[in-house]
Amino acid sequence: MGKWLNLLWNQEKKYMQLASVNCKAVSEYNEKMLSSLTLMGGFLMLLALLAAPFSDTKIDAVFAYLLTASLLFALFFLCRLSVMKKYTLVGLYICFFVLFLFAIYLSVIYTPGMRATILLGAFCLMPLGFNDHPYRMDLFVAFWLAVHTILAFYLKPQYAFDDTINCLGFAILGCYLGNTMVRVRLDSYEAYRLRTIEKETDVLTGLFNRRKLFETLAVLETTDAEKPSGILMLDIDHFKDYNDKYGHTAGDRLLGHFGETLTKFTQNFRIHFYRYGGEEFVGMAYGYDKKELLSIAESLRIAVQSIDMDEHRSTVSIGVAYCGGEQVRNYENIIDRADKAAYAAKHAGRNKVCMEQKEIQEIS
Ligand code: GH3
Ligand code: MG
Ligand code: MG
Repeated sequence: MGKWLNLLWNQEKKYMQLASVNCKAVSEYNEKMLSSLTLMGGFLMLLALLAAPFSDTKIDAVFAYLLTASLLFALFFLCRLSVMKKYTLVGLYICFFVLFLFAIYLSVIYTPGMRATILLGAFCLMPLGFNDHPYRMDLFVAFWLAVHTILAFYLKPQYAFDDTINCLGFAILGCYLGNTMVRVRLDSYEAYRLRTIEKETDVLTGLFNRRKLFETLAVLETTDAEKPSGILMLDIDHFKDYNDKYGHTAGDRLLGHFGETLTKFTQNFRIHFYRYGGEEFVGMAYGYDKKELLSIAESLRIAVQSIDMDEHRSTVSIGVAYCGGEQVRNYENIIDRADKAAYAAKHAGRNKVCMEQKEIQEIS
């Protein structure tokens, strides 16, 4: 027993970990499912309504079909509102709440002289329909199984036993397939996430690579995504000499420490770093004015000085280009401007921060 509980707990823990790191993919899938399930459900109800004049079994249930269709269409339109996005999961449970109520009404009130059919579909469909904690989806199914079983024994005793066995079979099948599907989907989101990280990350420094930089620039230039207010170009000073003196492997380790130092800044400031070339890095900063950009660049310069590698103190030259007040069409131009400012910092003696200007200004 303890072993089983342990196994269940471990599976639940794995689900929670995977679901939290892939929350965007999980929500996108659920949003798509809520919108398609409510729309499709609504139209299927309309189809049944169209068939009602020709069907003896449907004609008296017109009100139930109409009510269910209206509720599903109302949910469809509600879930399209952006403020409702955070309630997607609630919406999905409401959608299946409506479907189970409708199916149970048909089974125990409208046609007590027949075996439940639509309900069997609901038991199979619901756990397959979206991503949530498997145990919560199973409990939801178990709840409706209990509700239907109790009502069936009161209201349609001649078929209650048959219905219970059929519903139980479909519920078990649905939950098994549904739980498996949730895990398969999460594993595939995770594989995609790791592949993306691998594609966008520079192995030596752990920072974004040049490919990611150009992808980011392309997004900036084509969408109304938030634009950076400034770009920093960082170039390690005399790195070739360091390689020559300590060896290429030590140079690689220094690049690793440099990456860690920049990563710490990304945790405290709204700035993303990309490895632009060998020992050159681009920083894209968001929401800062000129003074703040200079102060961040100056803190970076000081932080790099404290990287301790075999008693060697590294330094960096930093060029800053401010583009906060501009309508920028091509961000590569801003990178060029930051590069020119970095060149000016080198020219001024290295271990400096320079702001790009018509006449480039050195600040330290
Ligand atoms: P400056 O102060 O003018 O920037 O001088 P520098 O020596 O840093 O600049 P230069 O462009 O002359 O040399 C850059 C060096 O960076 C040359 C190359 O061997 C080294 N480098 C580039 N990529 C890597 C790498 O991935 N690992 C190591 N260890 N070295 C690299
Ligand atoms: Mg260089
Ligand atoms: Mg250099």
